[in-house]
Amino acid sequence: MRFDFEGKTALVTGAASGIGRAIALELGASGALVVISDLDAEACRSVVEEIAANGGNACVFAADVSDEDAMREAVEFAQRKGGDLHMAVNNAGIGGPSVPTGEYPAADWRRVIDINLNGVFYGMRWQIPALLRAGGGSIVNMSSILGSVGFAKAAPYVAAKHGLLGLTRTAAMEYAQQGVRVNAVGPAFINTPLLSANLSPETLEALAVMHPMGRIGTPEEVSGLTCFLLSNRASFITGSYHLVDGGYTAP
Ligand code: NAP
Repeated sequence: MRFDFEGKTALVTGAASGIGRAIALELGASGALVVISDLDAEACRSVVEEIAANGGNACVFAADVSDEDAMREAVEFAQRKGGDLHMAVNNAGIGGPSVPTGEYPAADWRRVIDINLNGVFYGMRWQIPALLRAGGGSIVNMSSILGSVGFAKAAPYVAAKHGLLGLTRTAAMEYAQQGVRVNAVGPAFINTPLLSANLSPETLEALAVMHPMGRIGTPEEVSGLTCFLLSNRASFITGSYHLVDGGYTAP
């Protein structure tokens, strides 16, 4: 499905890699001006080039989502480039070390919460006023299947992905009558550098069989759902959590 985002501006965090990159490419192919935000400006630029090669329009704003000022500046940059901000995807996230809760290093706990949960709040804190100024818009926050079920040795990741659902639902209620929709997406295991850089091929195979479909997902399968939620086709959808999980949570 191709969406019509002509004349709209979108901000995507963690857009230089994996799921965020796929979302940015689909937004760009659907006519949006896309602000590619990630830690590494060079990696962002290569996504801008991919979008441009496909006839789309994108620009770079390198930022760390755990820096509240940088999240304000990212929104101001999007407004300067596009006139207004209409869509935001709070996607940046990290895995954190794999350690049981009783031994989890507090510094790693804080880092994962700072990026995966606080970073979503810092984004929304500035995106919501911008969307209100634009007369409405849509935000998608990247949760996980681990927003609804536990996973051993991943306490801060699971806590952050659960926590951002509460944040999503609360903001959705607060702004439902002002044209700002806020939803969350919950992917199962998706083939991105987050997985391939950290897990062996044997572990990836073991993860694949945990999905009734017998495989892990692709970034494009998450992008399709995300772009739908950003679009006017989802005009009556807010405050909800949408799985894209190959049946992982069905049993
Ligand atoms: P990815 O390929 O590693 O992409 C994430 C991007 O975010 C990377 O470019 C990363 O930069 C960037 N990033 C990390 N920390 C950041 C920060 N503090 N500020 C800004 N950008 C930062 O991972 P992905 O798999 O696409 O994950 C994207 C989102 O989907 C995450 O929220 C993840 O939790 C969620 N998710 C992933 C899966 C999965 O199986 N892949 C499943 C469910 C949910 P560096 O590479 O430089 O660190």
